[in-house]
Order: sequence, then structure tokens, then C-alpha cells
Amino acid sequence: MIQLNDTHDPALRCWLASANHPDGDFPIQNLPIGSFKRRGSGEGLRGGVAIGDQILDLAAANGRVKFEGLAAEAVRAAAQSPLNSLMALGPPAWSALRRALSQALREGSAQQTALTPCLVPQDHAEHALPAIIGDYTDFYTSIHHATAVGRLFRPDNPLLPNYQWVPIGYHGRSSSIAVSGTDFRRPRGQTRSPGAAEPTLGPSRRLDCEVELGIYVGPGNRPGEPISMDAAESHIFGLCLLNDWSARDLQAWEYQPLGPFLSKNFATTVSPWIVTLEALAPFRAPLERPAGSPSPLPYLDSPGNRRQGAIDIQLDLAVQTRAMRERGMPAQRLSHSSYRHAYWTAAQLVSHHTINGCNLQPGDLLGTGTLSGPLPEEAGSLLELTAGGKVSIAVGDGESRTFFEDGDCAVIRGWCERAGARRIGFGEARACVDEASRV
Ligand code: MN
Repeated sequence: MIQLNDTHDPALRCWLASANHPDGDFPIQNLPIGSFKRRGSGEGLRGGVAIGDQILDLAAANGRVKFEGLAAEAVRAAAQSPLNSLMALGPPAWSALRRALSQALREGSAQQTALTPCLVPQDHAEHALPAIIGDYTDFYTSIHHATAVGRLFRPDNPLLPNYQWVPIGYHGRSSSIAVSGTDFRRPRGQTRSPGAAEPTLGPSRRLDCEVELGIYVGPGNRPGEPISMDAAESHIFGLCLLNDWSARDLQAWEYQPLGPFLSKNFATTVSPWIVTLEALAPFRAPLERPAGSPSPLPYLDSPGNRRQGAIDIQLDLAVQTRAMRERGMPAQRLSHSSYRHAYWTAAQLVSHHTINGCNLQPGDLLGTGTLSGPLPEEAGSLLELTAGGKVSIAVGDGESRTFFEDGDCAVIRGWCERAGARRIGFGEARACVDEASRV
């Protein structure tokens, strides 16, 4: 587990004033990494670090400031895009980079003059996926989500017996993962209405979101060599926000016996910034499970994981309809929860994924699964918030929704805050639904 150090000191201030705003997502204690260029420019993509309302261009910084040792190696890797080679370097290099950037951005730093021209306003930037995502796996780590969804299908037996023993997951598709701001067309597919003899093809009428976190893999493992619980977090580069868009009507018709397929592989939205595990160190929490939960098998258990395997990341889901946008209304919050309610931790996902010898690679992405909390208003999907589409939600100025309509945008935000620590944020993962293509 990563220890607190001077980069987490809540009293640290940056020489860039916008980074010192107490409600900001990107103070000097955060330093998340992404891939960017100036919007509409012919520039090449490169790595950058969010600081206040700016991005520190790491390619430019690498030419103007001399970094030493491991930090120099890490800056060279972070100056490129995609960031897979940075992810492959491992925690000592990531930590050296964080320390070097923290020192260079502090008030009184001798590097202020050299780095000031390396700042690009976030408003002027466009992002790309931060990594080539070779493989994407989506899990199901919220027992509250699994129980609520299970209840819709099996009122008497909502939670399947394997849930408390094995982290449930499926292999997703990486080609349709897109960075925040990338809109997508409503999927078409086969559905079968209740009571109908045959299915029909058409646009999904039950388009839903799933509030999740994405976990980027750092150094991988060789085939046949599982990653232990004690080593698992050294294979995690950092976390982002993730929306696993889901067509519930397609899903209901296709999911047995092999799980979701076309209902989930048409679009997945990720936030541009990756918040490192080191930045999240002040927000670790004990792994807490509902009373009566069995102890996991030893390969999924460790004292450190029980003591602080969870992370308290606050998550908001909001919607903005086309009419709201046209009237200048902001996105409206639909639910709020925290990652600390997850049944399985990030380390357990890594250990479970590799226990059979499966090899992970730098830049692979693991989705946590929908992060619903224990209360109804903490649900991370419309399926839960509308009781399977039976109860509509009032939105905007006199509109209502059960599922997403054309022109709607879903916005996921995430942040961490607690007494004695500086608040840090993830920014947002936002995408809007366009009408289905004609066939
Ligand atoms: Mn999902």
C-alpha cells in the first residue's frame, strides 16, 4: 500500500493561482495524467498533467526543465502519447514523476519561469484516450447493484450464490471505448417484447448508463504467473471515470447463456484524466462488507486489503437533455454514491483476473461494474433508479425519463474529500446520444 508523503500535504500550494481553489478538481496534490493537444490544431498528441484550470504540457516541460534519475525516465515516457510506456515503468518511476512535478509546481519553485510557457488552458485542449487499451474487462463489484438488478429478474433469489465468492466479470470490447465528449449513435439490435413470439430489429428503447470507475493496468504479468494480493496494487497505474453504456432491451434478450454482447460493446465513455493510486492514498478505507458475508478464499485476501483496500471516491450521475441544453440549464443530478461500497477491491480484481494465468498488459482497462450504494438514491443506473423502467424521473423543465432519449447527455463526476486532506477530483466523463443510424 502507498504511504502518505510530502506530496499529499494539504498545506501545499501551487504557483498557479487556479490550482489553489478549495473546490477545484486539480490541486497540486492530485496531478492526474492524460493525453491531449490544442483543439483543432495539427499538433501531435502528448502527455499532460491537469493543474488548476491548465494542463502542464509534459513534452514541452521535458525540453525546458532538467529532470533527474527515475523522474527523467518517467517524464520522457509521459511526454509521449499513448502513455502505455509510462504505465509499464511501475510505481517507483510514477512516484518519482509525482515528486518532481510536485516540487516544480510548488510556490517558490525555481522552475516556475521555465514551466509557465508549458501551460495550456484546459478550455483550449482536446483529449484522446490516454493509452492503447489492448483489452477491456468489466466487473460487477457492487453487491447493491447486483442485488437490485437481480431482484428485477428474480424477486425471490436476487443474488446468485457465486457472487460472494468470485468477482464476476466479462470480457468487453476496447474498440468502442472513447474519451469524454465523444457522442455516439443509439444502438440497434434484436429485442423481443414480452409476449411476442418473435424478436424484431430496431433502435434500443431502453438505453441506460452505468456509473463505474476504470482501472488502468501498469506493469503486466507473464502468462501463467498470477499476481498476488500483496503485489496487485503495484500493477495498477490509476483510476478514471467510466460509463458502461448499456442497451437493456438488447441485453435481456441476448444475455443467456454467455452474458452481454451487443448490448454493451457499442460505446464506453472514459474521463480523460487518470488519477494515480498515489494521489488517492489519503482516501483509502477499510473493506467493509454486509454482515454475514463469507471470508474470501486466501488468494483474494490480505491484511492490507482488509485494512485499507477500499477507496472513498464520491460519484455523481447527472443528465442534461437537449431541451435543458437549449435553455442553458446545467446537468441535473440523478444519484450520488461512493466507490467505498464495492464488495470487491481493485486489488482483488487484479488477483482474480490473473489467478488462472491470464496475462494483463500495460494499458489494459478493468471496469469496476456499476457502483451503486446501499440506498435507492445511490443507484448508478437508470434501470435501478426507475425500477426497471416503471417509475419515471422528472428532469429539466417538465420533462421525464425512464431511459435515455436522443439528445440526452450523461455526465459522471468523481472526487475525493475528507477532513485533513486536500480535495481532489477526476473531472468528468460526458457523452450524448445521437439518433440511431438508418438501415
Ligand atoms: Mn458495466
